[in-house]
Amino acid sequence: MSSLAHMSAEAISALHRDLTREYEALKDRKLSLDMTRGKPAPEQLDLASGMLALPGNRDHLTESGEDARNYGGLQGLAEVRNLFAPVLGAPAAQIVVGNNSSLAMMHDVLVYALLRGLPGGSRPWSKEEEVSILCPVPGYDRHFALAESFGIKLIPVQLTGEGPDMDEVERLVADARVKAIWCVPQYSNPSGETYGGDTVERLARLKTAASDFRILWDNAYALHHLSDERPHLRNILDACTEAGHPDRPIVFASTSKVTLAGAGLAFLAGSPATVRWYLDSVGKRTIGPDKLNQLRHVRFLKDYKGISDHMEKHRALIAPKFAAVEAAFEGRLEPYGFASWTKPAGGYFIILDVLPGTAGRVVTLAKAAGLALTPAGSTHPYGKDPLDRTLRIAPTYPSLAEVRQAAEAVALCTLLAACEKRIAGEG
Ligand code: PLP
Repeated sequence: MSSLAHMSAEAISALHRDLTREYEALKDRKLSLDMTRGKPAPEQLDLASGMLALPGNRDHLTESGEDARNYGGLQGLAEVRNLFAPVLGAPAAQIVVGNNSSLAMMHDVLVYALLRGLPGGSRPWSKEEEVSILCPVPGYDRHFALAESFGIKLIPVQLTGEGPDMDEVERLVADARVKAIWCVPQYSNPSGETYGGDTVERLARLKTAASDFRILWDNAYALHHLSDERPHLRNILDACTEAGHPDRPIVFASTSKVTLAGAGLAFLAGSPATVRWYLDSVGKRTIGPDKLNQLRHVRFLKDYKGISDHMEKHRALIAPKFAAVEAAFEGRLEPYGFASWTKPAGGYFIILDVLPGTAGRVVTLAKAAGLALTPAGSTHPYGKDPLDRTLRIAPTYPSLAEVRQAAEAVALCTLLAACEKRIAGEG
């Protein structure tokens, strides 16, 4: 077997015939598989079932003697903030515990920045002619959609394997309209990369034209290892404080993929000024968060070792699914030389780069064969991947047997789309 680029026209036609036959057989199987979203599988949620019986009938008092059933406690219980301080990389006093969604906290930060303005800024963002946000690509579609929904302009910046292209970031922030950057610094969604120390230092030292520039540091995958490797991510709060920009980073995380995706805890961390600003704003929105859920989490996870042990159970369930995807791609795609894919050490996604110009076609072919994939382009601002090349594969939710079938199907559709393109003389 030779690489697609070196195959003769006859060989490609023959391959196309074989693949088409195989594809028709796949369609006849009437599969119904979904690899669209990075959701935990039911077995992963079962790991936290014990939490549902907590905190128990007579166990609603917090460490400080507050009744967790009542109003109040805007910043979150001290015991929860202490438990998650090592995850956030911030002292407990600089952490806020929200309800179940860190995306909701990011939403609120953008709304408060737009309507009330940020420490260090001269006016609310909504009073500016134009506001832009840097979007490392490939990135998280919900980050992009959130900012876009408020009329914030999305500017793509290429990821390098060690975080965003910092030469480009340094150039772009010289424009005062650029107010923020989205970052998923560890096991990034979807590239799986972790930002290098040099990238973090350069982000901290950026000379930005906007005095209220913010790094939205969404460390959603801080605990989500798939191997024994433990990446070292430089602490953004420390780096920015040392660089003289303590208010620049706003750190987010959640237990959505630790305990329960729909009933976890979300966190925000930042400088003392950031935490004051956020609490002042959020205090108008709510009298306090769900503290019973906070107690439930502390009682269930207990300490940092409890969190790590729990994450190992997740790893045991999902690492074989990632391995199954890699094996299918290696077996079917590697020999043809045109596709590449990531082998992440953590997180929830694999990137598959197909023949440029065919990602949309692969998704269409997969859909017709009963396999839902994330739409092509969703990894890029405005849903537009200029190369039509990048697909995000989310292997966690289906069962292992389904993941095996789905990965084979993706590989088949990838090959078929590439052959079609070559036959049309475009590839
Ligand atoms: N941030 C990233 C990078 C994600 O991948 C996800 C979910 O996939 C979220 C945030 C959602 O977080 P939450 O469930 O805390 O709202």
